Amino acid sequence: MNLMDKVRAQLDELASHSLTRHRRTAESPCAPRQVVDGRDMLAFCSNDYLGLAAHPRVVEALREGASLYGAGSGASHLVSGHSRAHALLEERLAAFEAPHLESARALYFCTGYMANLAVLTGLGSTLDAMIFSEALNHASLIDGARLARAGVTVYPHGDVAALEEKLAASAAPTKIVVTDSVFSMDGDLAPLPALLALCERYGAWLVVDDAHGFGVLGDNGRGALEHFDLRSPHLVYIGTLGKAAGVGGAFIAAHEDVIELMIQRARPYIYTTAAAPALAHALLASVDIIEGDEGEKRRAGLRARIAQLDAGLRLERWQRPVSTTAIQPIIIGANDEAMAAAARLHEQGLWVPAIRPPTVAVGTARLRVTLSAAHTEQDVAQLITALNQLERTWA
Ligand SMILES: *Cc1c(COP(=O)(O)O)cnc(C)c1O
Repeated sequence: MNLMDKVRAQLDELASHSLTRHRRTAESPCAPRQVVDGRDMLAFCSNDYLGLAAHPRVVEALREGASLYGAGSGASHLVSGHSRAHALLEERLAAFEAPHLESARALYFCTGYMANLAVLTGLGSTLDAMIFSEALNHASLIDGARLARAGVTVYPHGDVAALEEKLAASAAPTKIVVTDSVFSMDGDLAPLPALLALCERYGAWLVVDDAHGFGVLGDNGRGALEHFDLRSPHLVYIGTLGKAAGVGGAFIAAHEDVIELMIQRARPYIYTTAAAPALAHALLASVDIIEGDEGEKRRAGLRARIAQLDAGLRLERWQRPVSTTAIQPIIIGANDEAMAAAARLHEQGLWVPAIRPPTVAVGTARLRVTLSAAHTEQDVAQLITALNQLERTWA
């Protein structure tokens, strides 16, 4: 086989398992009502949980940021790309998460993917480290653990007892427990209080990826640590800023010494061009909204939509795992059936993504409904009617 035939064979293999992925092209801002490939759609796919991605104040701040700081940063943070906007955002985020950490400092990253690589390679790149990784962790944490020069062991989903056994059996001087706070494909919460108690007992770091909690959970949208009322010098918090915050990038908040180590050692921080300062400037407006009354109102609206969906769905064949968050999966099972269900919804103008392996386990292909404060009651009512009917008539 020549090289091109091998590429073709891999693509054919994906297609034969209904695993080929396609991108749709949005022609209007991220919102429930979107023009997609030339068609008006009602979307239940984005992680824009508070509807800030197209919020006029955030968009205006982005424009203002561009006039203040230009289009690009020009270099990595350690060379010359670190701007006043980045610094202000980091101070703001550190103060925001300070109630849950000791000597809190924050570090802004281009993406959550890179922040996760940085945390695990920064903390875990000593040969004596062991990373204890939750089974349903996001791909970026899995990749970070692979890239770290540490041992890695995976504990079963939500299984505190199994984690304790592994911690007790480990002689590693540096132990790092890492978990999503809200699981991105299931919407359930990690048992963070029990995990933190274990970490304190066994002298381990607890790294919490709050991609789907920041802005949404807890008072003022502070996220999962606030939701569970946790505080420890051994917490390392990652919040992403492209989801509820509506813009892009991510931050790590932790003890100032941990952050200083990231700046000195974490290659995904050091060897990349700093994000456009205008993004950081726009994020200051997002954080204002998240923290204030409007944020509270939007979170209440989101909770009402979640309760409405929960009360309205009458599914008998398809499984709905328990989720109290904006992520509401409907597990169908086979890849081709999940794809067909998404296609049937699409015909009705409803955009709900089908999620297949390797993003989820084989045999658990699903529709991943995500709700937003920007959805109206009528939007969710339309989805409920369509899903109930689709399942009833499913052959
Ligand atoms: C989206 C996501 C990330 C990656 O964040 P980006 O800013 O999109 O790169 C990391 N962890 C989890 C759990 C996520 O859902």
